[in-house]
Order: sequence, then C-alpha cells, then structure tokens
Amino acid sequence: MYDVVIVGAGPAGLSAAIYLGRAMRNVLVVDANKPMCRWEPHVENYLGFPDGISGDELLERGRKQTDRYKVEFVEDTVETASGKLGEFVVEGKNGKYEARRILLATGIFHIPPAIPELDCCLGHSMFFCKDCDGFRVQGKKVGVVGTINDTVEYALGMLAYSPCVFVLTNGFKPTWDKQHAKWLEEYSIRVFNGRIEAVDHKEGHIRTITFGESEKLLLDTLFTTRGDVFHNRIAHDLGADLDETGEVIVDRCMMTSVKGVYAAGCVTPANCQIIIAAGQGAIAAQSINRNLFEESLADHSLLRVREGQLAQACTEPQLIH
Ligand SMILES: Cc1cc2nc3c(=O)[nH]c(=O)nc-3n(C[C@H](O)[C@H](O)[C@H](O)COP(=O)(O)OP(=O)(O)OC[C@H]3O[C@@H](n4cnc5c(N)ncnc54)[C@H](O)[C@@H]3O)c2cc1C
Repeated sequence: MYDVVIVGAGPAGLSAAIYLGRAMRNVLVVDANKPMCRWEPHVENYLGFPDGISGDELLERGRKQTDRYKVEFVEDTVETASGKLGEFVVEGKNGKYEARRILLATGIFHIPPAIPELDCCLGHSMFFCKDCDGFRVQGKKVGVVGTINDTVEYALGMLAYSPCVFVLTNGFKPTWDKQHAKWLEEYSIRVFNGRIEAVDHKEGHIRTITFGESEKLLLDTLFTTRGDVFHNRIAHDLGADLDETGEVIVDRCMMTSVKGVYAAGCVTPANCQIIIAAGQGAIAAQSINRNLFEESLADHSLLRVREGQLAQACTEPQLIH
C-alpha cells in the first residue's frame, strides 16, 4: 500500500512527486510516458531558463530530481481505478497498485488539424498555444486553423504579434457565432474556406499551404484551435465530477469531488501551461501531505510512530550548561 499513487509523470506529476518525496511519503508514479510537454522543443516561458529549455530536458531534470527521494516509477497505462479514501486500487495494463490517496496528473491531448504532412512542423511552425508561442512569431504570416469562436479569438489575439493574420477553415463550415463573425469583418481578418491539400515546409518550417488543386498561400506559421481531449477516464471511473468540456473539477486544494482523489495540471480547468501544471502538482502534494498528517493524528498512527521512536532512539534533549 503506497501513501500516494500519482498517475502521470508530466510537469504536474513530477512536481507532486518531488514534494511528496521530500515529505517522506511513500510514492508510486505510474506513467504511460506520453507527456505533452515533450512536444515543445524550446520552452521559453518557464521561470529560470533565460535561454529556453526543451520540454524533454525539463522532464529529464525533474525525473532526476525525484531520484533523491523515496519515489518509485513504473511505466504502465492505467485503465481504471476504484475504492475509497484510504483504500484505492489503481489498475494498469501490467499491474494493480494500492494507495491511500490518488493524484491524477494525466494531462490532455490537443487535437491536431486534419491536414497532411504537418507532424514534423509541430513545435517548429505549427502551434496550439498563443501564450506559449505567440511571442516567437512576431511579424510573421500567421494562419489560424479552425471554425469555432476560439478560432476567431485566437486570430484577434495574434494581432498583438503580427499584422498579417488569416483564418483557415480547411473546408469545414464555420460554427462561430454572429458576434465573432462581426469581429472578423470589423478587424478585416481574411477567412480562407478552401480545403488544405498540402503543406510545403523546410525542416518543419512552413513555407506555403495549397488549397484545392493549385492555389497557394504564403505562410510562416499555423495555430490550430480544434479543441482538446481530456484524459479523464480514471477520474470518471472513481466518480469525480467533470465539467461540460471534460475537465476534472477540483477545489482550492486540488481535491476532486471524491475524498482522497486529487487532480493537477492540464486535466483540470487550469490554463494549460507547464509552470501552472508544476504549481498545481505542488499544491496537490502539500494538500495530500496535510490530509495524511491530520489522519495520522486522528487515528493515532503518528502516536505509534512516536512510541517507537521513544523506545528505540535517543530522544532526550542534550542540554549544555
Ligand atoms: C506543441 C506544444 C507546445 C507547448 N509549448 C508550451 C510552452 O512553450 N510553454 C508551456 O508552458 N506549455 C507549453 N505546452 C503545454 C504543456 O505541454 C502542458 O502545459 C504540460 O505538459 C502539462 O503538464 P501535465 O503534467 O498536466 O500533462 P502532460 O505533460 O501531458 O503529462 C501527462 C502524463 O500523464 C500520462 N498519462 C495520461 N493518462 C495516463 C494513464 N491512463 N495511465 C498512465 N499515464 C497516463 C501521459 O502519458 C503523460 O506522460 C505546449 C504543448 C504543446 C502540445
């Protein structure tokens, strides 16, 4: 029985593991090893790295930091979880793990645009997040792909970085509302409705996109706004409340609606940023630690630890006169 099983070893899970390890808790991290953080080759907005750092290296450093504490890792995909406060069972493809508390740090999946040949542009010239990557596309020709209100708001937001911003619906019918349609007109943002058939890029850097048979648009970068899939299945199986988009609802202590089940990072309603995920992991870990401490006072398990110390260790104060 672990004190805590953390599902997910992205920034949220690793940060929690460091805090709980330092709190002398017995922690297991179960991870399917597909962190979104790895998609970013050059993180520029994480505190303390003035020259940037790759998402991969940030995770590697975080993982190394946990080596100093009593934190175990297992690579496994959790399929479901059940139980109640103090006795949870987390079931992976390869094993079952028992814990007194669970922290879900399972993240999300950004849905990529349905455009051929874009994978290798990811993180180089194809982005999901203007807060992460807007700054680096200043003055460039920016295409925002999508058909929803968010698409329009992204395009408007990108005007802070570039005067050359277009919306691309990729052949799908727009579903943005009247107010958003009005903004597109008012701000003179061109909308291209054609289906994108091809993308020409050099080493991941987009140069043109082709509509239909031959019409080409010169572009430097694409942002996409197709939405996210939240990795919330375990939360759902445990009975935790989700909001209408699928995010796991948490309180100030990052506890879900189920006692003893916590969530942190992008799977919650927080903004999906590495520093926020790490911060939430720390909040969750501190709350869990406090909760376990209070339990140990209530059930006298801390008192039994103290009795053991008194019986075995030299606990007398050493006064020097
Ligand atoms: C292209 C791109 C660029 C980005 N750039 C930036 C940036 O510059 N700055 C920034 O702040 N943010 C950036 N982000 C966002 C950033 O990646 C996220 O904020 C961050 O990774 C969230 O951390 P997390 O721990 O919540 O989730 P993740 O990093 O996604 O980690 C979740 C972990 O949980 C595991 N997991 C999920 N389900 C299960 C399961 N059932 N069983 C076991 N394990 C499971 C996953 O495999 C994964 O390892 C970017 C994202 C993308 C896609």
